[in-house]
Amino acid sequence: MGRQIAMVLDLNKCIGCQACTVACKSLWTDEEGQQTMFWNNVETMPGRGYPRDWQQQGGGWENGEVRLGELPEEADYGSAIELNHEEVYFRGEDAYLHAKEPMPWGPNWDEDAGGGVYPNNYFFYLPRLCNHCTHPSCLEACPARAIYKREEDGIVLIDPDKCEGYQMCIRACPYKKIYFNKVAGVSQKCIFCFPRTEKGEAPACARQCPGRLRFVGFLDDPDGPIYALVYKWKVALPLHPEYGTEPNVFYVPPVLPDAFDEDGRFSDRPRIPMEYLRSLFGSGVDEALATLRQEMDKRRRGESSELMDILIAREWKSLFRIPRVRVAYNV
Ligand code: SF4
Repeated sequence: MGRQIAMVLDLNKCIGCQACTVACKSLWTDEEGQQTMFWNNVETMPGRGYPRDWQQQGGGWENGEVRLGELPEEADYGSAIELNHEEVYFRGEDAYLHAKEPMPWGPNWDEDAGGGVYPNNYFFYLPRLCNHCTHPSCLEACPARAIYKREEDGIVLIDPDKCEGYQMCIRACPYKKIYFNKVAGVSQKCIFCFPRTEKGEAPACARQCPGRLRFVGFLDDPDGPIYALVYKWKVALPLHPEYGTEPNVFYVPPVLPDAFDEDGRFSDRPRIPMEYLRSLFGSGVDEALATLRQEMDKRRRGESSELMDILIAREWKSLFRIPRVRVAYNV
């Protein structure tokens, strides 16, 4: 097996600004047929996500076999917003800008709705992209053998010349992170900005993030932040590990203040139910949260904490350790 590039996202720093989404969209998916295509999106949790209800649509692996899920319906992606510019600016027929047609859904449609009951309501943002899985079910499901995983960095790509538009990959990806381009007739997905990473540059979503929450590097680099967060401190966890694809995008789970009790004082109950966090990040989330709390407490007492220093990332360059990669292209 070759090397694997990976990303860790600290959910405690995501402000839901969508700078990553816009950076990705303007770089890669601004053509016809890509209007509702978001290789990177940020959704509010708990929520139905994008495409709508992706967590209920199936895919991944079961007993060593690929499990084909449902194909999301068009309404699950919503539609590109057409505004009434003409009516407002040129015809004087309307005073306010608004969408011409009601929209069924869209990225972060249920923004900040979250869960829980006042005063113990809660939400957090979950940025999502293709996980460039170690065991990609999309690759296995493709009848045209159009999907491949690169030896040099483990990036999962779709060869547009081989793709015949069967969309089995979309059904097989449990994260629903492959999109179908009806105009081009092919499936398309996040390419981990490989033209940038090959030169040692971070992917656009990571470089543009004002919250500095995305770390990028190789999993096996013992001197990099990825290795420290995933293997040494064990605070970065894959999303839905039970899907069986072994994601290479990891999340530092959200640490919220405890819930209020009836007197308005902090109780010792977590604000976000642990069953919910376990359902997203697996059983390792208990230990990860305990470690995060312990290290936060150390800093509060004025003691040093290597983990907190990594996560705070005072220097943006400390987020990335991406050596240049030479890829043998057959052109
Ligand atoms: Fe394939 Fe989905 Fe995994 Fe990406 S997240 S490698 S599209 S199975």
